[in-house]
Amino acid sequence: MSIPDISREKSAALYDKAKTYFPGGVNSPVRAFKSVYGTPLFIEKGDGSHIWDADGNEFIDFCCSWGPLILGHNHSSVREKVMEVMQKGMSFGAPTALENELAELILSNNRFIEKIRFVSSGTEAVMSAIRLARGYTKRDKILKFEGCYHGHTDSLLVKAGSGLVTFGETSSAGVPKAFADETIVISLNDKEALQEAFNEFKGQIAAVIIEPVPANNGLLLQTPEYLEYLRRICTQNGTMLIFDEVISGFRIGFEGAAAYYNIQPDIITYGKIIGGGLPVGAYGASAEVMDHISPVGSVYQAGTLSGNPVAMAAGIAQLTELLKPGFYDELHTKTAHFVKSIQEFVANRSYNFKVFTIGSVFWFAFTDRTGISTAEEIDPASMLKFKEMHRELINRGIYLGPSGYEVGFISAAHTMADLETTKTAIFDSLDIVFKQGS
Ligand code: PLP
Repeated sequence: MSIPDISREKSAALYDKAKTYFPGGVNSPVRAFKSVYGTPLFIEKGDGSHIWDADGNEFIDFCCSWGPLILGHNHSSVREKVMEVMQKGMSFGAPTALENELAELILSNNRFIEKIRFVSSGTEAVMSAIRLARGYTKRDKILKFEGCYHGHTDSLLVKAGSGLVTFGETSSAGVPKAFADETIVISLNDKEALQEAFNEFKGQIAAVIIEPVPANNGLLLQTPEYLEYLRRICTQNGTMLIFDEVISGFRIGFEGAAAYYNIQPDIITYGKIIGGGLPVGAYGASAEVMDHISPVGSVYQAGTLSGNPVAMAAGIAQLTELLKPGFYDELHTKTAHFVKSIQEFVANRSYNFKVFTIGSVFWFAFTDRTGISTAEEIDPASMLKFKEMHRELINRGIYLGPSGYEVGFISAAHTMADLETTKTAIFDSLDIVFKQGS
């Protein structure tokens, strides 16, 4: 049975005010709740797995700041380390030992990169990695996949045109056509398209960039075999393979998707978890490749707040927790258990609904397909059902990202009791959604 909508009076007032300050009332578009019901909820505080909005509504949070909060909100180790470091100043624009400490924590526990450079966001990491690949190979073209998101750098704000292998069409006003002309876009999981792109642009492709766990347009899991093929074809063509691990890094495991699939990319980008909730991104590669970056190499890249001590402190504290024995096993087991219960429920009810999952990431899809590995396989009409489900879940105190294309995250702070409460809310919500649709 449907239940009454929660009160959003204070959030609505804040949103009205915000609209006078920010385009669309937000500082990042998806926050505007355009694909779901109601005004955006203005969040006042978070603790563990729970968040509270301005009206005092409490939610179990599965957005987790879009992934960074793998320990949950306001984790004591992160908070205490940040506060300790803040006592000594917040930014110097000069090297600090904290940068070494975070780098060592990462590099000594990651077999896939030898050197790293810290930046301040995932977008910046990707933008820098692309420049590095172009500078290293002395080629201009890059290849990306429809259904992968890599931040808002110009040459990646492109979508596929019609045809198997196409130059990208800009997906945002303000991106020069000349930039899009350097970006080739193909479908995921399509060896033929990949082969054709390399034939057509022989010797011109600097890098292929992929989210090895594509998690920005649904969860479009690729087969290991396809990713291995991608590695081989890049090697054969002298093209660098960039794994964009802004989501999968430190999430699928400490060494991310590179270790999960046991594939050595040429460059890896990180973001989100690496900063413990503060703005940090990074890119890494072999020492030989990284030494093409300035000041030693000729590829320029810089940042006033890169390696900011407070952000480094948050990263150090968070990653230290992740390295504790059993951390990922526990998180993954908990997630698998949660997902399995929902899968069993929908199977019993014969609902056209699937939960796709890897590690502690899950995606709810209104589909009868057993697998979805390309953007084209997602039915846009199914998003209307997600919209209904989102409303029912919000009213029951469950917060998912406000779009059916977004994945959900489980953190170490989610308790079994949280997951039981959530399952009940999901079951009730699905019953309502499918009853309405029948
Ligand atoms: N790459 C991937 C895979 C992402 O998921 C994102 C953000 O969601 C980015 C890059 C951009 O990161 P940021 O939003 O920190 O700029």
